[in-house]
Amino acid sequence: MSRIHLLTPTIVNKIAAGEVIERPASVVKELVENSIDADSTRIEVGLVEAGKTLIRVVDNGVGMGPEDLSMVFLKHATSKINSLEDLEGIATMGFRGEALASIGAVSQARIVSCARGSAAGAEIEVGGGNRKELKYVGAPEGTQVEVRELFYNVPARRKFLKATPTEMVHISEVLTRIAMSHPEIHFLLVHNDREVFNLPSASGLRDRIGSFFGEDLARDLIPLNSKESRLEVAGYALPPAYCRNNTRMQFIFLNGRSVRDSNLTHAINEAYRNLLSPGRFPFVFLSLRVDPGYVDVNVHPTKMEVRFREPAQVHAQVLQALRKALNQFMPSFSALPKDVPRPVPQGGVAFGEAVSRPSVSTFVPKEQQRPSIEQRPFLQLHGYYIVEETPGGINIIDQHALHEAMLYQEIQKTIQERALPSQRLLIPELLELSPEDFFTLIKLKPLLDKLGLEVEEFGRNSIIVRAVPQVLKDLEAKEFVSGLLENIHEGELNDHILDGMIKVMACKGAIKSGRRLTPYEVHALLEKREETARPTHCPHGRPTTLFFSLEELDKQFKRRGK
Ligand code: ADP
Ligand code: MG
Repeated sequence: MSRIHLLTPTIVNKIAAGEVIERPASVVKELVENSIDADSTRIEVGLVEAGKTLIRVVDNGVGMGPEDLSMVFLKHATSKINSLEDLEGIATMGFRGEALASIGAVSQARIVSCARGSAAGAEIEVGGGNRKELKYVGAPEGTQVEVRELFYNVPARRKFLKATPTEMVHISEVLTRIAMSHPEIHFLLVHNDREVFNLPSASGLRDRIGSFFGEDLARDLIPLNSKESRLEVAGYALPPAYCRNNTRMQFIFLNGRSVRDSNLTHAINEAYRNLLSPGRFPFVFLSLRVDPGYVDVNVHPTKMEVRFREPAQVHAQVLQALRKALNQFMPSFSALPKDVPRPVPQGGVAFGEAVSRPSVSTFVPKEQQRPSIEQRPFLQLHGYYIVEETPGGINIIDQHALHEAMLYQEIQKTIQERALPSQRLLIPELLELSPEDFFTLIKLKPLLDKLGLEVEEFGRNSIIVRAVPQVLKDLEAKEFVSGLLENIHEGELNDHILDGMIKVMACKGAIKSGRRLTPYEVHALLEKREETARPTHCPHGRPTTLFFSLEELDKQFKRRGK
């Protein structure tokens, strides 16, 4: 008896689906890419429950005749390549002929299509890989694909689908990238009968960026351009003031396809290296045109990754193009817009330099705190530091770090028992967000409630802030929200995310570096410190206080006993 046999196409497709179709966003990506390949000028995506219940993509492309339609759900059925040579010069988004077969294997799908110039259309249905008979129906030119009950027959996948807002974050991200790479196409996204975005055909990338991310951002775009024989680099950089702690605002398009490429990401970050603090990433929109023969797009099932024939040259050209653009924008490369360098004290040495290896005790033991805070002299310097006399020496306190650390402790402690106290705004603040950010925030809502930030959906991609946490009452809600969005993205609503949010809150609520404090304020800060566990480090790991003992100072000044 033999043990080896061929798997049935149904099983093969279901396995393949595991690679190509991970979540509703993957279906949206594949369907929209098909519509782009079909020469559509208008593509409408309709979703129910973030695509978990229904995904519908309607285009006005070339459509399909009945023979083609009867083939679409078969594996390796494609109109886009014929031969091995074709694989060398792919100009379409798809070519593997497996998306529809995969989708059909794990959902209830239906396609209605009418070829351009035909009088009538046809319809085909598939459910869990089983095709039904083709039917002739009346239909407008173009194609309509409906995918229902995704993963109904793959319980393991179905179970891993996330809550609706989370899946919407993924879909928004996919569609944002596609919409940016094809500004000429009119894109419409409707979720649960509500319009998420409606992007009419734009004249180019700049216009599309403007209608999507707002005119304010578009006005700051720095154009870049570089043309060599094999590679043309175009697009826009943004000044370093625009940055995030992730690379989601880096768009790389290769021949109209949105791609991820660590080599290019490296070039981008390298161009900004001296302009941003570590862990911050710039905003860029890079559009690369390369001879299709110089890049292999067939290295990844969803074609997100590509392989260049000469990666080092591509890296060099992109880096140079970005540097040139940034140089023109900011001739003096040394100015750091985020961390403005402070003047070095003239005519003397800075304290920390004289003490070459200070014995840093960031923690002052209780018994040393003899004189009450009222009597202890202190001094604020440069709007950054507070120098305080202690019985055995001096403390140099980073005002922001200390306050941040205290707030962090305080919030953490409170939140274990109850929601943070909040303050209702007299005039609620309206914030307009990108769809991706909008859904991220909606996703975070249960945690926001806990933190005392009361937000409500308000029309398309806007939220209204009704109450803010007490600690942030002097701040515009916008600043806290954008801090959250800059720092929090990935992942589910767990303690790790909550902790990240508390960190943002502590940072935003703390006294800013560079602010001159009144003696009264310094006093209040130091007094408050007495009530807490004297945090030695801020949540980002920087020390709050440096202690220099008198012995250490005496030694540095070469004083021999007093
Ligand atoms: P691929 O895109 O890799 O060819 P797919 O499974 O995504 O494979 O699609 C199979 C084929 O179905 C395509 O090659 C194309 O001929 C046809 N097709 C799919 N979607 C559309 C559409 N929206 N309009 C016209 N033809 C389509
Ligand atoms: Mg395809």
